[in-house]
Amino acid sequence: MKLFETLRIRAASAVRRQRARVGVADRPARLDVRLDDFDDDGVSMGAPLTLEQWHERVVELLQWAGAMPVRVVARADHPFLAELVRFCHRLEMPVTVRTGPHGLSAARAAELIDRGMARCELVVPVFDDAADGALRALVHGRNSRAASLTVHVHLVVSEASAPAAASAYERARALGVDGVVLAAPLRSAALSASGQAGVRSALAVAWPLQATASVAAAALPRLDGNGPGAPRIGGKCHLGGLRLALAADGSAYICPHKPGRCTGPLASVSEELAAHRKAIRGCDRHCAHPELV
Ligand code: SF4
Repeated sequence: MKLFETLRIRAASAVRRQRARVGVADRPARLDVRLDDFDDDGVSMGAPLTLEQWHERVVELLQWAGAMPVRVVARADHPFLAELVRFCHRLEMPVTVRTGPHGLSAARAAELIDRGMARCELVVPVFDDAADGALRALVHGRNSRAASLTVHVHLVVSEASAPAAASAYERARALGVDGVVLAAPLRSAALSASGQAGVRSALAVAWPLQATASVAAAALPRLDGNGPGAPRIGGKCHLGGLRLALAADGSAYICPHKPGRCTGPLASVSEELAAHRKAIRGCDRHCAHPELV
């Protein structure tokens, strides 16, 4: 029954994504809950919500837009993380955790799996021993519990990580990871010729393990320092109809690079974020960060 419900929620989310792609504004297809400034997207925060307030905010979303896939973004040792995973899982919403290696011990990985984490995006600046240890913890937790956990590495592209990106794929493959995503930095940065060569060689050799979204693969070689994402060649950003993010203070927004966000009831988000959505529709960038695409 639970599997059926999860599949139904994923299918409804996919329908909303498709409606957004053909320009029909709808309620969001997925929710990002940002408990802290991990993977900082630059949206300034007020006083962080308490755990009880987070429960209320998630229930409010459920009543407004129905169940949808949830991604909880936080450091692995955040005190609310395991409880929010449990809470969303109990509400039948498939839960992804986006976090880093710090604090992701074997015990913490097992706890998150037991609470209902269905997918983990492990964000790593470079593929070092800390990343290695966290991935071992996740894969061991999955295997020891026969859990259906998907583990993806999000390797943030930079001068430090790009030259060894191809070997990172091999290390991830050897550890039993399901996929590696080359993640552009949230704010664009110039990449040297050798760095770009490293990205290209990783994209060339890594298939089928690599799960870099096609939009990211197209935009990565065009990273520049002039703003969020590379200049857009064609099409529109689909973000407006897809994702709703809740910052640590509970305020709602869609794109972190556009002004405007809503601190009131979620049911009024559509009206309050109208200017925000207009700015998204007129955006001339092409973001490659998997947080956004
Ligand atoms: S491409 Fe989309 S996510 Fe990126 S800055 Fe523009 S509106 Fe925001």
